[in-house]
Amino acid sequence: MTDEKQTTYRIGPIRPPSEANSLLLQITEGCTWNRCKFCELYKHEGFKAFPVESIKRDIDVMAEYAEIASEYQREDGSWNKKAALEKLNHMTREEQNCYYLVYRWLAHGGENVFLQDGNSLAVKTERVLEILQYLRERLPSIKRVTTYGRAETLSKISADQYKELKAAGLDRIHSGFESGSDRVLELINKGVTSEQEITAGKHIREAGVELSVYFMPGIGGKTLSGENALETARVVSEINPDFVRIRTAVIKEGTGLWQDYLNGSYQLCSDNDKLTEIKLLIENTKNCTGLLASDHIINLLQEIQGSFDTDRQKMLSIIDEYFSMPEFRQKIFQLARRSGMVTRPSDLELLPTERLEKLARLAGSISEEAVWDRKINDMMFGYI
Ligand code: SF4
Repeated sequence: MTDEKQTTYRIGPIRPPSEANSLLLQITEGCTWNRCKFCELYKHEGFKAFPVESIKRDIDVMAEYAEIASEYQREDGSWNKKAALEKLNHMTREEQNCYYLVYRWLAHGGENVFLQDGNSLAVKTERVLEILQYLRERLPSIKRVTTYGRAETLSKISADQYKELKAAGLDRIHSGFESGSDRVLELINKGVTSEQEITAGKHIREAGVELSVYFMPGIGGKTLSGENALETARVVSEINPDFVRIRTAVIKEGTGLWQDYLNGSYQLCSDNDKLTEIKLLIENTKNCTGLLASDHIINLLQEIQGSFDTDRQKMLSIIDEYFSMPEFRQKIFQLARRSGMVTRPSDLELLPTERLEKLARLAGSISEEAVWDRKINDMMFGYI
């Protein structure tokens, strides 16, 4: 590697869990809004869109690393990982990160790319088209390109523009709707209305681009808990997105909602409130053929996933089974789950007796509901 030649590319901080093995191409930095009261992701950054030419240079570096790494793929498709990673010994730390990301991407099929960061479609459509075309040309193994977008931004893009983006190779858009309730959206200062969510969703779906929206059970606090679920079901029913992904609300210290909690204007939802919201969402979503996905460890019952169309009963029975446990057992499960000891309620049977007794002692020591809800909320800080 010489000094003059670019040997690294930008890598942004976020991607959806479903893009864990995707190549990350950063076309923007930060978020255009940056004011949601639960989010501290870009608190110290403004929004920046990188020049197309510099993004193309990043793609060139990726293509070059792909070429180098590909030499270590055997004829049967397997990889000589040891030899491929020996290259790392001759690289700087930044080069290592970039090369390793490309190697890992190729070893997972080299098919998916995620365009970072928080609101990439705020960039003019023509620029995104140019980037997509270049990306697909330089890395022809790509089968799927996805990105994040704020509903407010997405609502300003027409169905025809989405069709152009689709034709150029944009396959899926992730959007953190969080809620379909206008009162909740206002409470969390999302800067978006449910009407904008519906407009955005309809345009995207009309163009044949896949849509993955995120729902946050519990984000409306106790007061708006039922409304959060019912209004989200209304929005989902109108749009019929391909995916509704559950992201259980966690109110973190330092955020605006945490301040509201401290001054008493916002009450934390319990794990059971959040599960009830998921139940309401499933029961009240109509005419949706998409999938409810639960791909994050902060969700209490991660096995609640399936088609809104064909798996409704199966998903509801998982929730009913949980609620059929004695309340004290539910609390023990919450503690065990939030401590990373178990995945599902039946896993409690596998825990050693002493550990169960310890959990029971802790559960028994907190009787006040609000103190318990705070305890469970705080236990989730480490997961987000
Ligand atoms: S739109 Fe997304 S990234 Fe931006 S502040 Fe809100 S939650 Fe954070």
